[in-house]
Amino acid sequence: MNFQMWANGDGLPVGSTGVVDLGPTAGVGLGTAGIGGAPDLVAEMQQLIDEMRVQDFDSIRFATYRAACKLRFIQKKTNVHLVDIWNMIESFRENGLNALPIHTSIKTSRIELLLTTIFHNLNKRLVASQHIDTDRSISLLLSFLLGAYDKHQTGRLAVFSIKIALATLCAGKLVDKLRYMFSQISDTNGIMDHTKFTDFLQQILALTTAVFEAPTFGFTEAAVLQCFQKGQTVTLNQFLDVFMSDPCPPCIMWLPLLNRMSTVENVYHPITCDACQVRSFTGFRYKCQRCANYQLCQNCFWRGRTSQNHSNEHEMKEYSSYKSPTKQLAHSIQKSLQCIPSSNSKSHSLFSEQPQRPLELQNIVPATPTTLRRYHTDSATDWAASPVLLPGAVSNGGPLDDEHKLIARYAAKLSGRADYPLGPPCGPNRAQSMGPPLDERALIAQLEEENNQMIREMTRLETQVNFKEFKLAI
Ligand SMILES: [Zn+2]
Ligand SMILES: [Zn+2]
Repeated sequence: MNFQMWANGDGLPVGSTGVVDLGPTAGVGLGTAGIGGAPDLVAEMQQLIDEMRVQDFDSIRFATYRAACKLRFIQKKTNVHLVDIWNMIESFRENGLNALPIHTSIKTSRIELLLTTIFHNLNKRLVASQHIDTDRSISLLLSFLLGAYDKHQTGRLAVFSIKIALATLCAGKLVDKLRYMFSQISDTNGIMDHTKFTDFLQQILALTTAVFEAPTFGFTEAAVLQCFQKGQTVTLNQFLDVFMSDPCPPCIMWLPLLNRMSTVENVYHPITCDACQVRSFTGFRYKCQRCANYQLCQNCFWRGRTSQNHSNEHEMKEYSSYKSPTKQLAHSIQKSLQCIPSSNSKSHSLFSEQPQRPLELQNIVPATPTTLRRYHTDSATDWAASPVLLPGAVSNGGPLDDEHKLIARYAAKLSGRADYPLGPPCGPNRAQSMGPPLDERALIAQLEEENNQMIREMTRLETQVNFKEFKLAI
């Protein structure tokens, strides 16, 4: 590890396996003096970091994936991933945060009150069997927020830091989160305030800094310029365009990946990983473009594990879905036989083959000194011109989808109505679907559906082949 290459020197070296040292931005601010004599929070943060280390995320060779994995871990440990962005905004309102200027700092006790509202409201939406331990979630999340933002041990946090952190870490569509964030940094005419944007970037990158990814994703002036030019007039749509583009600015690449990870982690691949030989796995799947049918699970690919003649230099494609070979065969035969009418296309919609883009490893921000230097010194035009490819592309639909629905729901939220219409991806039910028991049920249902589809496809395939033979015969 080349220490002088750190961007701002306030994070731990990536891949550090040494003694736990939270660093100036990640936990030492949790002294008893700083948080009103609450040593429990210090211990809590330490435990959180210890548990994160056990996951061995530091051995992931791509900084984008590493940062996203670590933040996903924090999300799940604190249960904030079960709270939808709309419910989060509602809790901000309930606690009077919207009435405060964003730079107002509030005391730990008030933050605790906010978190209490958030998690108690969450439990109200969950069935009893899925209720979370609210006390534990509150103290864990509080300790993480203080560790990330209370550098000077004041026991207070700015409203802005809290809003940005929670809006980033909660569940929901990325576009909804970004819309909310933009509302915090734009004026009454809907134009972005550049000073507030710089502050916003500082707040959001404090999250990656808190999980020791500052070398790649720490705040710098260059990071600001990666997003917008000085003095540029930025509207909501332009803001969304930049943050949801593929590739998006390097400093923020972990954000869409983090969002995408929450859906991909439940995708089941019934195939054997060629490196670790595990017979099935969930998450991303990687297929070599050079070796015949060589596939890796995400754990192996991210950590550079190989076997046979495969090398890390080979081009890989990332898959976030699985389609059985039977279906693929049926599809190709169907395509080759134009005379056969397309049928049952509906059954394919659940597992689309997208995205299947080749990975350009040099652009996934590995934590090599060369890359670090590049990303921290390059100008906005440099990165924009390069064919940066972000595997964690936004999968949340177009920036303008469901716009009317969103506005209606947001308006309903603001007016305090509880009965606004909620779509499955954003509503409270999303929380339920993310709990472990439902995950298992979803997996079983998915497998059953896969199995049924396979049987249907095989039957259809047989019919098609017979039909083809018949056609050839005549
Ligand atoms: Zn593997
Ligand atoms: Zn290969």
